Amino acid sequence: MFADLHLHSVFSDGTFTPEQLVQEGRQRGLAVLALTDHDTMEGCARLAAACAACGMECIPGTELTAELDGAEIHILGYFLQADDPQLRAEMGKFQNVRQDRIREMVSRLNGLGIPLDAEAVFKLANCRSPGRPHVGRALVEAGFCASQEEAFERFLKRNRPAWVPKFRMSAVDTIQLIHRAGGVAVLAHPGLNRSDDIIVPLVEAGLDGIECYHSRHSPATSEHYVQLAEQHELLVTGGSDCHGFNKGRPLIGTIKLPYSHVAEMRTVANQRRSRLRMAEV
Ligand code: AMP
Ligand code: ZN
Ligand code: FE
Ligand code: FE
Repeated sequence: MFADLHLHSVFSDGTFTPEQLVQEGRQRGLAVLALTDHDTMEGCARLAAACAACGMECIPGTELTAELDGAEIHILGYFLQADDPQLRAEMGKFQNVRQDRIREMVSRLNGLGIPLDAEAVFKLANCRSPGRPHVGRALVEAGFCASQEEAFERFLKRNRPAWVPKFRMSAVDTIQLIHRAGGVAVLAHPGLNRSDDIIVPLVEAGLDGIECYHSRHSPATSEHYVQLAEQHELLVTGGSDCHGFNKGRPLIGTIKLPYSHVAEMRTVANQRRSRLRMAEV
């Protein structure tokens, strides 16, 4: 039994609906899926229903943007209680900030003589958690760029003219937020970060796991993070980071995490929840 624990849907910047993710995942022999949309869990109930209908397991999750020592990192939360009031409030704030950021990016594009309309981006995004890929798609649709790659290269990448930094919570607060919502906190795609120096401070802040397997990690990179995870007694996770079709085929299922890792994650989540319940009484 295998899992893909990093998937985006139409509720953020992915192009598959939760139902399509389940269909694609099933075709690729996956038994467990986790939805990790940026700053939202709105798609989790639909993923759960679609998984249940075909005997698959699903883990509710999200991907949050955090900061440590000035660097942007992504932290995945798994087994989260989607109705946790604080988590809902924080995700709502992130979504508002994302919408303001779209307006700012569009206004910078306008300043460059590109008459894109923010409403066109919102209409295309059709979700509460819009991001740069939506601006890229809008630029392509309106004929200002030939491809999403060109849109990022010319305008949207870090330090390009329409790039606007994203609001990020401190990594310590992010991990605490995930823990208080009964979840497990995992450092996403560490191989894409500038350095591993952040790992020890994250462990001190309560990090539970590392996404050792990711579609942009080489086998050597994955092995390196498996060793780091062992050294710090952290969970090992993995996911494709599928956003829909990528050069003709979706990434879902390109990472197949053995089920034993899911079982270990669940044990940690269950322990956290019983501790939370004990603290309540
Ligand atoms: P945002 O959360 O708005 O900053 O957008 C981040 C998302 O943009 C990532 O999750 C990727 O899906 C996508 N992305 C980031 N860099 C690139 C790039 N160079 N080309 C295409 N997509 C990218
Ligand atoms: Zn994304
Ligand atoms: Fe990410
Ligand atoms: Fe992601």
